[in-house]
Formats: sequence, C-alpha cells, structure tokens
Amino acid sequence: MNKDGIVVLNPDYHFKNDRDRIVMYSKRKVSFDSSAEWVSYIHPMQAMILGLFTVPKSLKLHCKAIEKHFRLTPEEVETLIMPYVNNPTPVYTEIGSEKVLFPKNVLIPYSEIDDNCLMRYDFTMEDLKCDTVCLSQDRMHKAPHTLLFMLTNKCVTQCKYCYADRKTAYIPLTTKQILQFIDNAHALKVLYVDVIGGEVFCRKDWDAILSRLVEYDMTPSYISTKVPVTRNIVEKLYQTGYNDVVQLSLDSLDESILKEMIGCKSGYVEKIRNGIEWLQSYGYLLEIDTVLTRLNATKKQLQELYSFLKGVKNLRYWEIRIPEVSIYTPEEFASIKADREQLNEICRFVKEEIIPDSRFRIYLSSEALEEKFHAGKADDEYFNGGTCGILNDRLFILPDGKVGVCEQLYWHPQFVIGDLKKQSLEEIWSSDKALELFHLHRNLFETGSPCTECKILDSCNQRHRRCFVKTVKAYGINKWNYPDPRCQFAPVFNSNLRY
Ligand code: SF4
Ligand code: SF4
Repeated sequence: MNKDGIVVLNPDYHFKNDRDRIVMYSKRKVSFDSSAEWVSYIHPMQAMILGLFTVPKSLKLHCKAIEKHFRLTPEEVETLIMPYVNNPTPVYTEIGSEKVLFPKNVLIPYSEIDDNCLMRYDFTMEDLKCDTVCLSQDRMHKAPHTLLFMLTNKCVTQCKYCYADRKTAYIPLTTKQILQFIDNAHALKVLYVDVIGGEVFCRKDWDAILSRLVEYDMTPSYISTKVPVTRNIVEKLYQTGYNDVVQLSLDSLDESILKEMIGCKSGYVEKIRNGIEWLQSYGYLLEIDTVLTRLNATKKQLQELYSFLKGVKNLRYWEIRIPEVSIYTPEEFASIKADREQLNEICRFVKEEIIPDSRFRIYLSSEALEEKFHAGKADDEYFNGGTCGILNDRLFILPDGKVGVCEQLYWHPQFVIGDLKKQSLEEIWSSDKALELFHLHRNLFETGSPCTECKILDSCNQRHRRCFVKTVKAYGINKWNYPDPRCQFAPVFNSNLRY
C-alpha cells in the first residue's frame, strides 16, 4: 500500500471509557515522538472523530467522511482536524468552561509507522459512547488508572528504619485470585500495576504474577528488593519477560553496620555483590537506594559505597535518602536516627565532594531535614505542602485483597475502603467510603479533631493539602483526622518528627 498522504491515529495513544468522558492516555514507554504517560479527559465526540483515523486513509478522504457524518462544512472540519496533525506540542480546545488537552503528534503520517502498530488500537466505536458528558478535571470516574499491589509483608531483613506494617496477620490471596484480579484490571485498562513487598521475592508465585503483568504490558517501572538475588532468581525474572529496572537497597558495605541497621545475616554483603553481578549479566538496569542513619551517615561509609558503585555497569542512579519516622516502629527508628548536625555535614559532603565527581546520577533526598512544621500565619488560607493524590487515580492493594488508599497507611481501618474478595475494583472505586474520603466530608472530622473548629476546613479539604501519613506520624494512629503537622493550627506533636 502506498502510504503517501495517509494519516493515522498515533498508536501510542489509547482511549478508555470513563462513564461520561473518554480518557486519552499513553504508556510510560512510547514508540514515536509522543507524549509519554499522558492522561487527559476528552469529549466522546472528539474520541470518535480521532477513532476514525484508526483506518489508514488520506487526510482528504477522512475529512470528507467527517463532513458527511457530522454534517460540517469543509472549513469546520479543517479547523477541527488540522491542530492534531503532526502537532509538535500538546494542544487544547475549549468546550464550555473546560479546556480539553491533547498530547503531541495525535495524528501522524502512516509512513512513519509499521503496519503491525495498527494492532495496538484497542477500542471500538461502541467503547467511545457515553450517555452524558462531564469534562471536569476531577478524579477518574470509573476505575483507578494505576495500582500499587503489596504482594506480601514478609521480608528478609529487619530494618530499623522500616516504615511498613509488618505485624498485621492476614490470609493471603491465592495465586488464582491474584491472576483473576490482574485479568480484571486489564479488562478495565488499568495502565500498570506496581508491585512491592515486604519483599516481592518472598511470595513463591512472584514469577507467575509478574509474567501475567508482562503479558498485558502492565509491568511495574521497577522492582525494589533487599534480597541478595541469586542466579536462580535472576533467571526466573528474565523468563517472566520483565526487562526493566531492579532497585537494590544498599546502605553500607560494612556488614557490622548493616547487621545493626537492617538485621542481616553474615555474608549478606558478599551475596548482594554477587546479586549485582548476576543482574548486570542479564542486562538489568540498576538503581541503588541508601538510607542515612547515625550508623552509615559518615564520609567513610559513603565514600566506600561510591567507589563500589563506580564499578557497577547499567547503574541508572544512586539515591541517598533521609528517612522519616516510622509509624509502626518509632522506638527502633529512634535508636538509629542521625541528628541534624551529622546529616547536614554528610549532605554537604555528598553535594560538594561526591556529586561533582560522579559520572552517574546521584539524588540526595533531604526533604525530611527541610520540612517546615506549624508553618504559616493564622490568617493564611492554607498551609504549605504538596497535594495529596489519594483516590485520584490510584489504589493500594494489600496482600489479603483489602484495598487501601495509600501505601504507608496499610491496614489502617479508616483507610481500608474495600475487599477484593467480596467486591470488584469498580465497586470499591465508586463506593460511598471512597467518595467520602476523596471529598473529605466534614463528618470525618467530628470526633474531637481540632480541624472541626477550623474556619478554613472546607478550603483546606478542597485543596487536598492534608497528608494523613504525616498526621498519623505526629499524633498516632487514632488521631488520623487531626491537622496536618505542617499546618499553622496543628497542636503539639505526640512524637518527635523533627531532625
Ligand atoms: S496520604 Fe500522604 S503519603 Fe499518602 S498519598 Fe497522600 S500525601 Fe502521599
Ligand atoms: S489541617 Fe485542619 S486545622 Fe489545618 S488548615 Fe486544614 S482544616 Fe484547618
């Protein structure tokens, strides 16, 4: 077929029905000059028009068909279509008071793609029909767009800085239940499922789960582990088809320090080194994560790690982090917590003496040192801090099928909003509990929280500034509806959040 003059919908872009609008989205990895990880809500009519371009035809023939089908003039069709042909940057149209955003290169020359790419269109015109239309920039209406799945809370180490709930007992989902759940998520066009532990490799069927995610192109962007991986694990990983990043935690090369920090056994460092060799030999990209405590936040420790990492091939980056207090094991955390002076000194050393010398990327995450609590004046309308995205487009799945809203809140009863053993993902996403928590209804704050007296409660909630994790760290598990510790009205904390 002569492809000259033929224009098609860029196969990197996908559509899914979100009840009363269409989600236009792309994956993390794109094949053409496309906008990666794109998400926008578009009008069903716009999706249908673009959907016509899944059939390779000349632009002229397409325009004629659109004129006829939608009873438009040639000029109207040109105004409608041309902004999306080879558009080098994202564009938008206005519908009523809403801006509808489109990614770059929506319609591209057929000559630029391989015929097999046409197989990637995964919707029918029927899928693009909606009875009503709502284009507001709010949460996903039908189902979450991504998932975070904690496969197990089992682990191979006993890290004193661990923030996970490792004490809750549960009956795990079976392999069959998990695979069925992934099938359902795939049918709902969930973009990807990040998998975490505990330790992912501590679930015996991790490879079957990962293989299913690879089959559906729903793989996590990285797999994080503290397990000293063996040849057998790396081979199994390779056989699943997973070919992305493995993130390894390595806090020190000194085993006596590691034994105190993470409770590892003798020979751990040697095994980690071997694991790195195996991962490199299979071509995996590596990320190394180092957590700073009073035991390893020294020039000697970091210099040793840096020298070792210089010899690691395929290293994407080294992240050095200052941990925040753990909700579940605050006493253990306190026993290894570094003080501000030590951390300031080590951060200066990393910034001035290691980073400028390095040929690989190093990220120093020192937000915990810079966090401002009780900030702001009494008449400010909101406090400084990020925006919380819970229930916006993501859900957290616990190993027993309970569904939470944020990884660090685990089985906290207030934040478990459903159970996959009894409900579907769609039911949980649209349940009263999910909606109440997303909209932060006033009645959530009626049990003695100082927020009930706050004049700006409604505007604070609409801005989604509140981080429940920080609140629980400051006041305890039961005081989850207390003010965010960064808020100017926050009472005195019950724990030591500060460095
Ligand atoms: S509760 Fe806090 S940690 Fe959890 S998603 Fe919201 S801002 Fe992030
Ligand atoms: S966290 Fe509570 S006290 Fe602080 S601004 Fe928001 S509603 Fe008011």
